[in-house]
Amino acid sequence: MSTTEVENYPGFPEGVTGPELMERMRQQALRWGAELYEEDVVSVDFSKRPFEIKSEDRTMRANAIILATGATAKRLRIPSEEKFWSKGISACAICDGASPAFAQKELAVVGGGDSACEEAIYLTKYASKVHLLVRGEEMRASKAMRDRVLDSSDVIVHYNTSVEDAAGNAQGFLESLKLVNTKTNESIPEPLKVAGMFYGIGHTPNTKFLDSQLGTDEDGFIIVSDHDKTSTSVEGVFSAGDVHDKEWRQAITAAGSGCQAAISTERYLQMNKLLKEVKMMDTKDAKEEIEAAKKKEAEAPKKKTHEPAIDADNFDIDRQKHQGQYALRKLYHESPRPLVVMYTSPTCGPCKRLKPMLSTVLDEYEKSIHYVEIDIAKDPEIAESAGIMGTPCVQVFKDKARVAVINGVKMKSEYRKIFSEQLIESSAA
Ligand code: NDP
Repeated sequence: MSTTEVENYPGFPEGVTGPELMERMRQQALRWGAELYEEDVVSVDFSKRPFEIKSEDRTMRANAIILATGATAKRLRIPSEEKFWSKGISACAICDGASPAFAQKELAVVGGGDSACEEAIYLTKYASKVHLLVRGEEMRASKAMRDRVLDSSDVIVHYNTSVEDAAGNAQGFLESLKLVNTKTNESIPEPLKVAGMFYGIGHTPNTKFLDSQLGTDEDGFIIVSDHDKTSTSVEGVFSAGDVHDKEWRQAITAAGSGCQAAISTERYLQMNKLLKEVKMMDTKDAKEEIEAAKKKEAEAPKKKTHEPAIDADNFDIDRQKHQGQYALRKLYHESPRPLVVMYTSPTCGPCKRLKPMLSTVLDEYEKSIHYVEIDIAKDPEIAESAGIMGTPCVQVFKDKARVAVINGVKMKSEYRKIFSEQLIESSAA
């Protein structure tokens, strides 16, 4: 979940951040025996029983499946979008807004729904001014959200306005937007000078990997039965949350939908005599198990966790994983190995997803690659000099030259390929 503050989740009177809510749910699932694999599913086969699910790392079989893959932010696809992607254009204000490149600059958000309003308000923390570009006569957002935007002196709303294209500065970063008046269809002569443009124009469901094995609507959203709002066109496959829900898209409605899907799945397994009961741990056993796991984690060599901020007293070049600018400087100048740097920010949901994934891949290169994590909120000057305009961003250096930049969260294979290429080139040199 990449939203920042969740104000409407019951039980959190002060609100809760999206990443924290996810972490709490994760811990709760683990406590009750769920096994979590943080990897991308590349394909499914619903023609076989049990169903087959393939990731890059394993093939699993399941008598029933709940699909809860959510939806991804849409893009405008203006002509120079690729040119300025992560160089000023972004689909996630929450992830990228803290970038030093946007600090005290004028920024734009496209869209008139709740997402766009939420992004515009969020960006006022960093920007000198936020322009909300709404293509219609009015905003479609809820009244509460609209009012927050209209009450803010830092947000300027431009109605009947859409973006035709973008232009950049000499360094290749976004500098201005070419706008169109949607009422007259005429270009607006004066470009809008902004350092960043963020999309808040809706979402596309993450259903491509299903390869048309399930009924979806014309936009790709899974079609669920009217009867339980969770059964799909394939018996034994259920859907939960934003992957089918176009309308409500709230954390609480997605959680409720997950609960409905879980109960429907249990009923299905029971009816088909496929239910294997996992005996719940009683409270005493559960507590003991959690304590034992915590103890084990504390005692384990710090292999998978990243080290605390490093300084001259505790820097150790033999260690693979580091944090902070001191380690970055030391390794950049002194390490003979390829150096992987991951730029993160505290409110970035995708960063939380990428960290354990990248850590697992890096474990395969324990003696051959160095790694540093930089929090752009703690080390803004480093992020600025590295040209970071969004997180997560992974950069790879070899012999002090930047050889690869990977924005966002990619499949493990993509990171492996880039790391291995650097090692092959090193050994060939
Ligand atoms: P919506 O579909 O509600 O809104 C999309 C917005 O983008 C609309 O204003 C639409 O304009 C505009 N748009 C779409 N395509 C383009 C385009 N090509 N060019 C310019 N503008 C475009 O999506 P949201 O993501 O905002 O919200 C989805 C759901 O999630 C809603 O139910 C919302 O309530 C919920 N939500 C709630 C939040 C909260 O309460 N905290 C936060 C975020 C979302 P037009 O109106 O003209 O079609």
